[in-house]
Amino acid sequence: MINAHSYAAYDPKSPLKSWDFQRRDVGDDDVQIDILYCGVCHSDLHFARSEWMPVTYPQVVGHEIIGKVVAAGKNVSKHKVGDLVGVGCIVDSCRHCESCKEDLENYCLEGMQGTYMGVEKQTGQRTQGGYSTVIVVDEHYVLRIPKELDPAKAGPLLCAGITLYSPLRHWHAGPGKTVGIVGLGGLGHMGVKLAHAMGAKVVLFTTSPDKVADGKKLGADDVIISKNEEEMARYAGKLDLIVNTVSVSHNLDPFINLLKLDGTMVLVGAPATPHPSPQVFPMLMRRRSLAGSGIGGIKETQEMLDFCAENNVMPEVEMTSIQDINQAWDRVVKSDVKYRFVIDMATLKTEKPAAS
Ligand code: NAP
Ligand code: ZN
Ligand code: ZN
Repeated sequence: MINAHSYAAYDPKSPLKSWDFQRRDVGDDDVQIDILYCGVCHSDLHFARSEWMPVTYPQVVGHEIIGKVVAAGKNVSKHKVGDLVGVGCIVDSCRHCESCKEDLENYCLEGMQGTYMGVEKQTGQRTQGGYSTVIVVDEHYVLRIPKELDPAKAGPLLCAGITLYSPLRHWHAGPGKTVGIVGLGGLGHMGVKLAHAMGAKVVLFTTSPDKVADGKKLGADDVIISKNEEEMARYAGKLDLIVNTVSVSHNLDPFINLLKLDGTMVLVGAPATPHPSPQVFPMLMRRRSLAGSGIGGIKETQEMLDFCAENNVMPEVEMTSIQDINQAWDRVVKSDVKYRFVIDMATLKTEKPAAS
């Protein structure tokens, strides 16, 4: 077994604290990754705080992992020792269902195994995430990080990036299309950048007036304060696609009214409590759709990383030490991050192992 040092949740409410645990040994298909950086996703908070479902503690979260391969099993061919690699939200899936065969491991019909929120089939143990020094992952679920991408900033692509890239591609964002992004947080700011890079006209909807100038800088052609009805009315019936990243339950009707005939709003935000049910008439009178989308498969995640390298699309990050992670989480809850925290794992490695 391999010793890992981490910051873990011990219950839904207390601050994260040091925890030492063990990773499985490197199997024939596995790589061992020395973790250099890990992004902070709002899902980390929802999950660690048992907002989605009751969690067994201690629990380590983090699924925007960048690191170096330090060991590889004998069957490994995709990666080698010394490579810069990434691990996103998926560490396993059944590999034989219809979805897995189509490279849609994120929609595995037997259930994908999350980097956290999953079970390791090799050990039967709950998976533990990236706020830790080391991880062991089957090479299939490990991404190649193109050399053009700054390793300190690339982590958020592995969840926030792919979660926006996948629906933007699936619903054909591109030249001639007007795309709305709701919420300028970790996911939303990647949505603005990616939709802009794909050639769409981008309209950002935010509740935060102080983010208007940033929204434009990041690539939005227009920014609307979503609580202002007059501003919202300017886009009534004008959008082909909306990707809604908001992390709390809210009224969807004002956004559905912005869709064109046959337009779609895709929900990617995953609030702890359900949204109120939208009204039916505005949907049926314009054949509008309401959809959902969850991260993306491994192949598409690699495609997204290559797209970002080619188009110079990078997350805006604020670096934090692991020791300041609890203050960072407080700021995530207040929507006060510009626009994704990344933990510098060097700050974890210099800590002594937790007293047992
Ligand atoms: P985040 O950085 O906290 O961003 C969420 C944004 O929502 C905020 O920046 C804010 O934008 C808006 N918001 C927050 N509170 C609000 C309120 N009371 N009313 C209206 N808007 C509010 O979170 P994130 O990491 O981007 O994640 C967003 C959500 O997506 C989370 O629920 C997360 O669990 C989920 N998620 C889903 C997937 C998936 O596969 N579908 C993947 C990753 C994350 P403004 O300040 O601009 O209004
Ligand atoms: Zn995430
Ligand atoms: Zn499957």
